[in-house]
Amino acid sequence: MAIVVQKFGGTSVADAEKIRRAAKRVMDAVDKGFSVVVIASARGKQTDQLIADALELNPDPSAREMDQLMSTGEIQTVSLFAMALEAAGYPAISFTGTQIKMVTDNVHTKARIKSIGTDEIHNELNKGKVVLIAGFQGTDSNGNVTTLGRGGSDTTAVAIAAVLGAHECEIYTDVDGIYTTDPRIFEQAAKIEKISYDEMLEMASLGAGVMHSRAIEFGKKYDVNIHVRSSSEQTEGTLITKEVPQMEDVVVSGATIQKDMAEIGLIGVDNKPGNAAKTFAHLAKAKVVINDIVQTEISNEKANLLFTIGTSDLKDAKKAVEEIKDELNCEKIFVRDDIAQISVVGVGMRAHYGVAEKMFSALAQAEVNIDSITTSEIRISCIVSEKDAKKALKTVCLAFDLDKPIEKRAKK
Ligand code: ADP
Ligand code: ASP
Ligand code: MG
Repeated sequence: MAIVVQKFGGTSVADAEKIRRAAKRVMDAVDKGFSVVVIASARGKQTDQLIADALELNPDPSAREMDQLMSTGEIQTVSLFAMALEAAGYPAISFTGTQIKMVTDNVHTKARIKSIGTDEIHNELNKGKVVLIAGFQGTDSNGNVTTLGRGGSDTTAVAIAAVLGAHECEIYTDVDGIYTTDPRIFEQAAKIEKISYDEMLEMASLGAGVMHSRAIEFGKKYDVNIHVRSSSEQTEGTLITKEVPQMEDVVVSGATIQKDMAEIGLIGVDNKPGNAAKTFAHLAKAKVVINDIVQTEISNEKANLLFTIGTSDLKDAKKAVEEIKDELNCEKIFVRDDIAQISVVGVGMRAHYGVAEKMFSALAQAEVNIDSITTSEIRISCIVSEKDAKKALKTVCLAFDLDKPIEKRAKK
């Protein structure tokens, strides 16, 4: 029997009524003859609440205990969800990440999946049960509970869809699809019907919180079609899928804003081979995830090394650069955490010119100063002051017609 994976985010299972509504989606799929595997997140804002509870008792809790605690949110959801299904006459069984052998590395609070057991899932599906799996969590090889990073249930869902060979993974959420930008910030954002893995991967990594970026990596690698749709409305959502040539006709598919960011600058480090390697090896040892790096030579002897990171890594990153400062002969370290990054993304950039100019002109007209610029083949990102960030996003969206459906956008 064909398997479908359905993932329900926190808002979609926030209370009993919403769990019943989500259960109805599952029952519809069962009635259509599918074997259904459900991944669920913690209810409502429960993960935030668990973090607040922890901080009330310890301002600097260990990452291991945080994972142990945070993983409980999704465990509650899946057992409640199973009860709702059973009450409606649909046999169901819930599992924690550990129970289905979701093995991860040992990087607490941002672990990566290494392998997933499928025996338990298949056994239960074969008995005609709906299988519910707690999202966002796994276990390292020593049996410690780990979590995959905020928003990580998406990754659990797509990874499970991949190992089960499910042809589609449905992501049920509080928006009815992927929009050109976060509709909470730019209300006129247009809905996207289809988006390529690469574009969505960039958007997710650049702050489009609607999907966890690792989920898209799994989707791309294992060819899982990801369908992002509304848990409350019966509309078609957005399909995240393989790139097709027509996708290049659209210059910019989406724009993002990333706020929880910090910039660290190592000013006047010795300009000699090995210094960048040393710096980033040290940061990697501290498990700091680096977003972008800009190195500029200021003279034969000296260079500046700038990089951006998420604010959650700021404490570790600061400590790491302080430790290595003298070895690099660094004159000064600066840290800014009042910044935000505005990016535009589109596979069409490969085939069109003038995209950067359009973005920078729009920002100039809105009198937004650009702190630094980074690019890839399919994206352009500008660091701006946090206070200008929303204005900058809106300006850029209007410049690229991201308030209009694809057919009505300017071709260049
Ligand atoms: P869930 O709890 O279901 O995982 P999330 O809050 O993680 O839901 O993701 C849904 C939210 O993502 C939306 O409410 C929306 O505000 C935000 N979002 C950010 N960027 C986008 C985008 N480009 N398209 C749609 N939603 C977006
Ligand atoms: N509950 C976790 C979070 O709030 C994981 C998720 O929702 O995907 O980040
Ligand atoms: Mg989410």
